[in-house]
Amino acid sequence: MHIFEKIADLREWLARQRKSGRSIGFAPTMGALHEGHLSLVRAAKAAGDVSVVSIFVNPTQFNDPEDLRRYPRMPEHDIALLQRAGCQALFMPELEEIYPPGQDLTVLLDFGPLTEVMEGQFRPGHFQGMATVVKRLLDIVEPQRLYMGQKDFQQLTIVRRMLQLLAMPVELVMCPTVRELDGLAMSSRNLRLTPPMRAAAPALFRALTAAREDFVAGKPVADIREAALATLREAGLQPEYFEIVDGYTLLPVETQEAGPFVVACVAAWAGQVRLIDNLILTGEGDGAFQTPAG
Ligand code: AMP
Repeated sequence: MHIFEKIADLREWLARQRKSGRSIGFAPTMGALHEGHLSLVRAAKAAGDVSVVSIFVNPTQFNDPEDLRRYPRMPEHDIALLQRAGCQALFMPELEEIYPPGQDLTVLLDFGPLTEVMEGQFRPGHFQGMATVVKRLLDIVEPQRLYMGQKDFQQLTIVRRMLQLLAMPVELVMCPTVRELDGLAMSSRNLRLTPPMRAAAPALFRALTAAREDFVAGKPVADIREAALATLREAGLQPEYFEIVDGYTLLPVETQEAGPFVVACVAAWAGQVRLIDNLILTGEGDGAFQTPAG
């Protein structure tokens, strides 16, 4: 695996790959890698792409300085995992490489409600920071395909909209959420869970799967939300939201008729650690996301 810290070196290597007819598949990450991240590498390789991963803990998407400070950093562990998964290039830039002093690269797009609901309510500025770094990385890597996890469903929906608004010729591929055996979605933040909170955390998935069953069975949406919030509280978690939304607009759905693509999204605190997860209740989100954007 090639490791690059400088944009110029990475781009020179990428140009050689393109010259030899290879397509580029890119997965941006913030490191502390796990099987969820590696599934993006595997998806890229399965599609025949040269697999490129970036590790960059992006300060502009952290609304909480303490969360940024505590974000796990383990470059050696990450390099070993990527090597084993067959990743071909790793981009690990310093801050100044991504944000050259004196240049404002902020993405100022109007995403409408997409950035206002759910995470948007609780993490002001987060999505603007995320969109800015994803745009910057896409401009550097210029991949054919961008691999992102369903785990961060709102993020992926906003990136999809950004690709459309900017008419960027990048195909967005949504990869299914990789989970622990007890259902907890893999996340770099899980490393910070205390043992009791690690034991409580699978309640997110339990609440989501119960919501899916009840939604399909035709139960009233308000009752499903209440039951999910109760499940989380009983487990000792502090929910911020549990929303049942249209998978494209992210606006709340009131009834089962709302379809065709409905997703339940949840955020809850497990002690000092904020966890998010989601589950498709109905529809074919995957298919919809795998078409080229624009
Ligand atoms: P992060 O390092 O948390 O910024 O995540 C980088 C990418 O990996 C994003 O596209 C995430 O959605 C994806 N990802 C994180 N956790 C998982 C998971 N458990 N399953 C699938 N993809 C994931």
